[in-house]
Amino acid sequence: MVNDLTSPPEMCSFCHKKQTDGVSLIGNDKEHLFICNECVEACAKALDLKGIETITGEAVDKDKAPAKPIDFSSLPKPSEIYEELSHYVIGQQDAKRALSVAVYNHYKRIFASGQQTEIKSNGFSNVDIDKANILLLGPSGSGKTLLAKTLAQILDVPFAIADATVLTEAGYVGEDADSILLKLVHAADGDVERAQYGILYIDEVDKIARKAENLSITRDVSGEGVQQALLKIIEGTLANIAKTGQRKHPEEDLLQIDTSNILFILGGAFVGLEDIVAKRVNESSVGFNSELNEKASDDKDNLLAKVLPEDLTKFGLIPEFVGRIPIVTHLNELTEDDLVAILTKPRNALLKQYQKLFAIDNVKLEFSEKSVHAIAKRAIDLEVGARGLRSICERLLQKIMFEIPDSDKARVVTISEDCVLENVEPIVEPLKKK
Ligand code: ADP
Repeated sequence: MVNDLTSPPEMCSFCHKKQTDGVSLIGNDKEHLFICNECVEACAKALDLKGIETITGEAVDKDKAPAKPIDFSSLPKPSEIYEELSHYVIGQQDAKRALSVAVYNHYKRIFASGQQTEIKSNGFSNVDIDKANILLLGPSGSGKTLLAKTLAQILDVPFAIADATVLTEAGYVGEDADSILLKLVHAADGDVERAQYGILYIDEVDKIARKAENLSITRDVSGEGVQQALLKIIEGTLANIAKTGQRKHPEEDLLQIDTSNILFILGGAFVGLEDIVAKRVNESSVGFNSELNEKASDDKDNLLAKVLPEDLTKFGLIPEFVGRIPIVTHLNELTEDDLVAILTKPRNALLKQYQKLFAIDNVKLEFSEKSVHAIAKRAIDLEVGARGLRSICERLLQKIMFEIPDSDKARVVTISEDCVLENVEPIVEPLKKK
């Protein structure tokens, strides 16, 4: 090394470039040790530290995981997520399995993109894992929202629900698509960092499909516009939203939200999608197996399990949008037995909730097996899935709930099938001491 103490040259100690060569130097004047921005970047690359772009400004590490948005060390495995979901969600095995894997991979992807990449990803340091959002197909009241909500609970991440039907393209009457992100920030108590790792459930996505694919004159332009707007958010963007959720004014404070790590779960009933699938399945098997055709047109759940991206495009989702939701799973229509299980089995089962309410008034509430089946049958008749169970039970128990608190004697109230079918009054008896 040349030691010219009279006028020591300021140059990179590694590549010997000077500022006059167009590099920026940082270092120690006293020791005459310097490093240039190019060498820092080369080191960062060699060490696989992403996002360090410059040393002229502050070193920026865009991908670095923030303080502690979610605890990756306790990320449950797919089988654990499935098991935990099953404590709350009855049936829907396919959807639970698909979601468990998708959610696990989603958070693993975030983990792998942070600085902790030394993890077992050796040899894949240049591989970026794509974001994968999820589409849940299934009738109303079959558990789509419940699944998304329960997932967020299990993972302890912020969760919000948005309705696609109220959204419009920016500039039209209605809510800006961006504004749904604000719900997630609220769910995270204003903590934007945490919100950026949350789960956003967007309901009624089927309602923003453009109508009649082959009749372009009747195209629902606004539906397509909303899909475009949502597309940007779900594929990952830096969204600027007004803190009030109102339309953006230039002078208003904007909140910047990075959506690349938010998990979007989209849901919808997609009525008629099974016909599109049936048509495709039938067309492709014409002349080969007519028996199969008949079967295919019968079983709705079976058909929804066969949905391909092209079916969703036919239904009216734009191909770019479909491309961003690679995980498609479906929920079955709930059977009478499912509904009976929903009433009695989950941790927060509806009948357990009523039993608890009655117990507070010193009353043991009992349901005969037949009465529970009658409630389930009524919900099926109403065609609202499990969603109708609560209002049926409310109506069934309202009168007795009005009367019971008038006395503090220990009693047993028994609900029979006739109470459900014929509006017969429940039997009230004193509680016998054992
Ligand atoms: P969807 O979003 O499919 O229309 P929800 O998830 O909102 O339906 O279901 C409405 C209510 O019905 C839930 O809050 C839950 O109490 C009950 N429910 C629906 N499906 C299930 C299920 N598979 N297991 C347990 N409860 C269910």
